[in-house]
Amino acid sequence: MKSASSKMACRIARDGRVELPHRAATNFLGERLLLPVAPPEVPTCAWGAKPTNQHIMCCQRTTTVGKIRRHDGVVTAVANAFASLGLRPQVEPRVATSRSRARPDIVVDNLVTDVTIRYPAPASVTSIHAQKAADKAAAEKNAQWRIWADRRDLRFAPLVFESTWALLDESVAWIKAAVAGSDCLLAPTTAADMVVCAALSALMRGNVWVVASALG
Ligand SMILES: [Zn+2]
Repeated sequence: MKSASSKMACRIARDGRVELPHRAATNFLGERLLLPVAPPEVPTCAWGAKPTNQHIMCCQRTTTVGKIRRHDGVVTAVANAFASLGLRPQVEPRVATSRSRARPDIVVDNLVTDVTIRYPAPASVTSIHAQKAADKAAAEKNAQWRIWADRRDLRFAPLVFESTWALLDESVAWIKAAVAGSDCLLAPTTAADMVVCAALSALMRGNVWVVASALG
């Protein structure tokens, strides 16, 4: 619940630019109101466990396919939003100077990011800080990519979402830096908002795929 009350998470319910198909909106409301997202006629996840909201977002035996699709959907949405602003994002590029097989999710100008989506529990349950799970994910991603990016004169920040619609401040700052390179006529804050809304819409559509893969 702490994560669901973060400022980004609240905004998603009232920002008209976040577009949601019916199923995604139903899931969103179910999770938000702590009502079961799994329909009553589906008594277990595809593996046979009780389909609590937490389980169907986290089940390690069933959700992998949905999570990959959700991740790729968010990457595509962010890249498309950048492109619509006149930027030239590259998705999973082979970075010219790279001898490693490392492929960051998005490079735009001299900015590089990698996308990750975390379910907020259990990290947030035992912490007084909202977004504890996102902070932890950001630390992991920074450890993974910072030095790699520094060596190539790229500025790295992770795009870290919690599946309950929170987005880290350092990720929003990275998006703002990226859209600052656009010569579109929108104000930078408006342009960054557009990217954020596209990403959050994709995240919520992706949550439907995660639930679908959990329930089989
Ligand atoms: Zn399961």
